[in-house]
Amino acid sequence: MKFLKYSLFALLCLSIFIISCDNEEPCIETTWYQDLDGDGLGNPNVSESSCDQIDGYVANSSDVNDTGVNPTPVSAFDEFNPDAVTVSFDGEEITISSNALINHTSPYWEEGSSLYIEPVVADADRMSPGAIREGSYTLTVSAFPELASTSTSTGLGAIGIAVSGAPIFNDEEGPNVALSANVASGFDYAGGHNGPTGYHYHLESQDVPENTTLSHDDEKLVGIMQDGFLLYGRRDADGEYPTDLDESGGHFGVTPHSNGEEIYHYHIINEFYTGSYVLLFGVDLKGTPNSIM
Ligand SMILES: [Zn+2]
Ligand SMILES: [Zn+2]
Repeated sequence: MKFLKYSLFALLCLSIFIISCDNEEPCIETTWYQDLDGDGLGNPNVSESSCDQIDGYVANSSDVNDTGVNPTPVSAFDEFNPDAVTVSFDGEEITISSNALINHTSPYWEEGSSLYIEPVVADADRMSPGAIREGSYTLTVSAFPELASTSTSTGLGAIGIAVSGAPIFNDEEGPNVALSANVASGFDYAGGHNGPTGYHYHLESQDVPENTTLSHDDEKLVGIMQDGFLLYGRRDADGEYPTDLDESGGHFGVTPHSNGEEIYHYHIINEFYTGSYVLLFGVDLKGTPNSIM
């Protein structure tokens, strides 16, 4: 009988031990939010529940734009002519508006204007008619521009806005009419001239003492294209010509404004176009173009 008591007692102890084993800390599930861009902030729209933290997920859910794409660096817009260009940010989008009144000298200014100069490089006989006048250009782009699945060819008219405030045109001077050396010889040192819609650039600016602001064979910011990607001069921030550009002159890399982050950006392609001219952008856009109104 005593033996039985002890056996029962031992059995009881054993069952308590087993029960307590089964009764481990209960699992409390937590919601984890995807953090594609690795900034420690999670995407409120992509979540999973689990007891333990999931790889690539965080507890925070405040990242409204967790695309894995770095945003266009805001400091780039400090390079734009503040008298002509206003830039507004709403988190998701950037709107660039310009009155097109450039901040550099040109023979295309009205004589008597403080920025008017005699032609430096322009062949006066080939200059296009008209004088620089106020215009209106507005471009709204994503603050997180992404490469599109297909490239888009550019059309006549503004395809980007340069730091001076004037629009960037491609390599056409009319519908399916390529810019000729003849026409280009009438351009000012900034690579621009007047057209029916106003003053605009086709070419990289030239290396003359009068050029104090615009990119010539360097790493300066040239402007922003209609797909939201920034256009830089022929060189990277390290002073070297980039060697890994795609057919649109673009690549992922750091820029003078990107704070060490790699962003997709274009460069002026280091090639001559019809003689000694260098086109600003005669290629296809890699992102999704927005119209410049
Ligand atoms: Zn033109
Ligand atoms: Zn670059």
